[in-house]
Amino acid sequence: MTKPRQSAAVSGFVLKGATVVTNDDEGRVAPLDLRIRGGSIVEVKKKLAAKGDQEIPAHGMIAVPGLVNAHVHTVHALWRGLDDGLDFLTWQRERLWPLEGALTADEAEAAARLAMAELLLSGTTTVLDMGSVQHTDVLFQTAQKLGLRYIGGKAIMDQTQGLVAGLRETTESALAESVRLCERWHGQNDARLRYAFCPRSVLTASAAAWRACAHEARARGALLHSHVGQHADELPLCEGRLQQSAVSYLRGLDALGPNTVLAHGIWLSLDERKLLHESGTTVVHCPATALKLGCGVARLPEYLQSGLRVALGTATPAANDGQDGWRELRLACLLHRARGDQNALSPAKALALATKDGARALGLADVGVLAEGFRADIVLFKADGQAHLAPWKTDPVARLVFAARASDVDTVWVDGRMVVSHGELQTATLPSVVTAANRAASRVRSRVS
Ligand SMILES: [Zn+2]
Repeated sequence: MTKPRQSAAVSGFVLKGATVVTNDDEGRVAPLDLRIRGGSIVEVKKKLAAKGDQEIPAHGMIAVPGLVNAHVHTVHALWRGLDDGLDFLTWQRERLWPLEGALTADEAEAAARLAMAELLLSGTTTVLDMGSVQHTDVLFQTAQKLGLRYIGGKAIMDQTQGLVAGLRETTESALAESVRLCERWHGQNDARLRYAFCPRSVLTASAAAWRACAHEARARGALLHSHVGQHADELPLCEGRLQQSAVSYLRGLDALGPNTVLAHGIWLSLDERKLLHESGTTVVHCPATALKLGCGVARLPEYLQSGLRVALGTATPAANDGQDGWRELRLACLLHRARGDQNALSPAKALALATKDGARALGLADVGVLAEGFRADIVLFKADGQAHLAPWKTDPVARLVFAARASDVDTVWVDGRMVVSHGELQTATLPSVVTAANRAASRVRSRVS
C-alpha cells in the first residue's frame, strides 16, 4: 500500500496517481493528479510536475470530495445507544433533553471532540451542527482545533414549558446570545467557521424568536437551521398550537428561503412540500435516526423529482449511534429501493447529495467538487488490496457507496490541511478523546439519573 506523507511545513502539494471522483458536471472519474496550494485545488491534469510542491503518491487509492453532513448534534455523542423503548416525544423530553441540559462546558467539549473525531476519521469534512442551548463557544473552539469545516449555532428553546433548568431561557437572552455568537464566529478561521441561527423547532422556539432569527440570518449572510415534520406525534401538537401546518406557519414568519435548512421533513403535506420547493428551502434527509426513532421514511425520490433541495445528515448520535456519513448515504441509497424502484436513488446521486448538493444547500459554492477553484477538502480511500472493495476499478463510486468502510479512509484534508493521515487523527490524540468522552458520559448520566 502506498503511504502518503505531508510535511507540516509544505504549503503546496501534488496528489499523484489516485483515481479521482471529481463530482464535476461531467461526473468524471479518472486517474488524475491534483495540485493544492493555499487550501485550494489549483490544477487538475493527467500528469502534473512537482514544480517545487511536495509529491504525495496515491496510486491504488480513490480520492473523493469530503462528505458534507447537513444535520448533526455533536453534543449528543455521549449518549449513543440511548434506546429506552419510549415513544418519540417522551424520549426527547424525559431522556434526551435532561441529559443535554445537565452538560458542563467540559463535558460538552468531550462530546464534541468525540463526534468531530469520528466525523473526520470517516471522511466528513463539513457539518451543520444544531449545537445546544449552552456551550456554543466550546463547539466552535473544538471544531477550530480539530480542523473541521463547521457551521453551527446555539439551539434556541425559549418555549420553556416543561423544560429542564439547563435548557430554559428567555427570548431576549437567547437572541442576544445568538447575535453575540454570530459576531464572534461567523467567517472566522479563513471562513471555515460559520454561524447558523437555530430556533430548535416550531414547538420549542417562539414566533418572536423565529422572526428575529430569520431576519438576523438573512442580514448577516448566515443560515437558519431547524427541525420540521420529524414525527407524526408532533402533527396534532403543531395543528393545535399553530392552527396551521408547521411549514405554512414558517412561511408566515418569513422563515423559508435558500438559507433555511430544515432537518428530517418526513411528515410533510403536498402543500408544505410546495412551499419548501418554491422558497428554495432545503430538507435534510436523516434516514438512520428516523428509522431508530420510529419516525418513518421521508419520500426522498418524490422530493428529488419535484425539485426540492435535499441534503443528507446523520442527526443525533443518541439515535443514530454514530456519524459515519458513508453508512448514511448507503442507507439512503438502499432504503428507497424497498418500494421496488431500483432507480430511486443512484449511488452517484447519493454521493452528490452528501457532497456538492449538501455544500450548496449550506451556502458553500466552492466545496464538494475536486476541480480547479474548489477548496481542498479531500478524502483518500485505500482501495487496492481491500477484499471488500474488490473489484473497484469498474465502478469506484458504486463500490464506495455500497461497500466502503470508515476504516478504509487513509488521509483527509480540510482546506489543504491534513487532519487524518494513514487512518490516524492528526489534530487530537484519539485515545484521550475517547477516554474523556467515556468519563464525561458516566458523569452526566450519574448526575441526571
Ligand atoms: Zn436534530
